[in-house]
Amino acid sequence: TGRGTTANLEEIVIGRCNDYIGLKNPAAGKKNCTLLWQTLKSVFASKDPCKITQDDYKPFLTMAEHDIPSGKSIFWSQTGELTRQYADIVKNVMPLESTLTGYMLNGLNWCGQRSSSELNYEVCPAWNECEENAAKSFWRSASVVYAKKASGEVKVVLNGSSQTRAFRTESIFGSIELGNLDTNRISSIQLWIMDNLSGSDKESCGVGSIAQLEIALKHKGFKFSCIDNYRPVQLIQCIWMPEHKSCNICPKN
Ligand code: NAD
Repeated sequence: TGRGTTANLEEIVIGRCNDYIGLKNPAAGKKNCTLLWQTLKSVFASKDPCKITQDDYKPFLTMAEHDIPSGKSIFWSQTGELTRQYADIVKNVMPLESTLTGYMLNGLNWCGQRSSSELNYEVCPAWNECEENAAKSFWRSASVVYAKKASGEVKVVLNGSSQTRAFRTESIFGSIELGNLDTNRISSIQLWIMDNLSGSDKESCGVGSIAQLEIALKHKGFKFSCIDNYRPVQLIQCIWMPEHKSCNICPKN
C-alpha cells in the first residue's frame, strides 16, 4: 500500500488552481476552480481506488483544458524534478506539470473508498499495486491529452544514468506520450540525455535504448536531434555540485 490522500487536498487543489489561472498562466482563460475540484472529486470519491479508469478523468480534463503554445512541450522520463526546475527557471517550456491539471495535482496523493464518501487519508494503492489506481489512471489520461496538443519543436529529457534504461517502452513517456505525438503538428523533436553529475554515463545519444528511441522516431517520420548533457540543464545540476569537473566554466588542463 502507498501513502494516503494528501492532507487538505481540497484546499491545496483549489488554491493551486486559483494560483494557476490568476498568476502563473492567465492565458489559460476563465475556469471555475470549485467546479473543477467537484468534478475531480466525483471521479474517485466513494469508489474502489483500484477501479478508476483513464476515461473517468475525461470530464475533468476537458473542463481544465487550455492551449499549450507551440514549441513549449517538454516530455521527461526519470528526470521529473530536474525538468520542473528547468521549466521554473527558463519559463519558455511548459511540461505537463506547468499545465493546469498537472500543476493542480503534481506531488499529491488521492483516493477514495467504496464504503464511504470520505477520502482515504490513511492509505491509497501503491503505484504498481493495481493497474487502474486513482493516481496512475489520472497521469496516464492527462499524458494523452498533453501529448496530443504538442506542436512545433518538442523536447524530451531522459536520464543517461538510469539504473534500468533511459528510454523504457513501458514508461508513460514510452507507452502513452510517444504514441500520441502528431507528426503533422510537430516540426522536430530534440532529445536531451542528462547524466547524473556523480552517476555513471550509462547511455548516450545513439547508444542503447536511446538508439531504439531514435529508430522509432525515424520510423514514425519525425525529424529529431539528440544532445548529451544539454548545458543549460546541466548548469542546474551544478547548483548542488559547483566543484564538479563538469561544472567548471574554465577547465584547468
Ligand atoms: P517516470 O518513470 O520517471 O515516472 C513518472 C512518475 O510516475 C514518477 O515521478 C512517479 O511519480 C510515478 N512513478 C512511476 N513509477 C513509479 C513507481 N514504481 N512507484 C511510485 N511511483 C512511480 O517517467 P514516465 O513513466 O515516462 O512518466 C513521465 C511522463 O509522463 C512525463 O513526460 C509527464 O508528462 C508524465 N507524467 C507525469 C507525472 C507526474 O507525477 N507529474 C507522473 C506520471 C507521468
